[in-house]
Amino acid sequence: MAVLICGGAGYVGSHNVRAFKEHGEDVIVVDSLETGHRASVPEDVKFYQEDIRNGEALDKIFAENQVEAVVHFCAYSLVGESMELPLKYFDNNVGGMISLLEAMHRHNVKRIIFSSTAATYGEPKRVPILETDPTEPTNPYGESKRIMEKMMKWVSSQHDIRYVSLRYFNVAGAWRDGTIGEDHKVETHLIPLILQVPLGKREHITIYGDDYPTNDGTCIRDYIHVEDLARAHLLALNYLRDGGESNIFNLGSGDGYSVMEMITAAREVTGHPIPAVIGTRRAGDPAKLVADSTKAGKILRWKPEITKMQDIIASAWKWHKSHPKGYED
Ligand code: UDP
Repeated sequence: MAVLICGGAGYVGSHNVRAFKEHGEDVIVVDSLETGHRASVPEDVKFYQEDIRNGEALDKIFAENQVEAVVHFCAYSLVGESMELPLKYFDNNVGGMISLLEAMHRHNVKRIIFSSTAATYGEPKRVPILETDPTEPTNPYGESKRIMEKMMKWVSSQHDIRYVSLRYFNVAGAWRDGTIGEDHKVETHLIPLILQVPLGKREHITIYGDDYPTNDGTCIRDYIHVEDLARAHLLALNYLRDGGESNIFNLGSGDGYSVMEMITAAREVTGHPIPAVIGTRRAGDPAKLVADSTKAGKILRWKPEITKMQDIIASAWKWHKSHPKGYED
């Protein structure tokens, strides 16, 4: 029986493909390659270049393979773009989930692990954030993921499909051998942008505001290594295999690092001075986002292992240094 990884050629998806293979799982990937990279998926993995909104394509995949479970990463994920083009996000993210759940129902596939996000919470009322805290997304990206979670809930009660939704905080780093990593056409994330400075692609990093109510005035986030994240998906799959009920888990380290601290750590790792310039706040950035992942620890027995910020940044640096043009190299 195989695990179908939807969006397995993206950043988080491709690391999951590696982790699942390493644990002896039989994996199949479907990815439209609109934002993913074929080169991020090993040659020996069965690969379908399809958009999951195409139900006939999914029928073919489910007919050709014995799929036991689905791990679902297909989504647009740029917060800023989602504000400008909300319907693009609802069409792709929500539309993709409808098509996928319909196909799973048609083909009697009963388990799904879903890539969700801390953006489902919006501006937190308190930190660390618990799964039971209110979800009031402040952008269409987060809203689309929350809608997808709710859809799984209703479908699961009606069609006997069980799901695990994993709400990621800030995913970072790269696979340990530096052969796969983060490569977005439009880069908006802090660590890859910081590392563009020592790569000679930008002169400085801009800090989006230093007047937040935090120790050094810059925003605090909870960074989680992509390999630790992938391991949580494996644990979630085994949890469902063991009969676990549908559930939602936060995935974060529980530790917060400020933008300033991240830049300092990157200077240590790269040995480059990485000049930083203070800019204005980015719209919609909460001052502090930190996960309470106690539930994932208790129920999934998940614990992040790569927690030192220097180690997380070093793994990203290994990838970027050896692939300055990403998968074009
Ligand atoms: N950030 C920054 N400069 C940049 C990119 C990001 O200061 O060039 C800050 C951003 O305001 C946020 C943190 O870094 O506080 C992490 O941002 P990222 O976009 O990586 O992830 P997010 O927390 O928005 O999901």
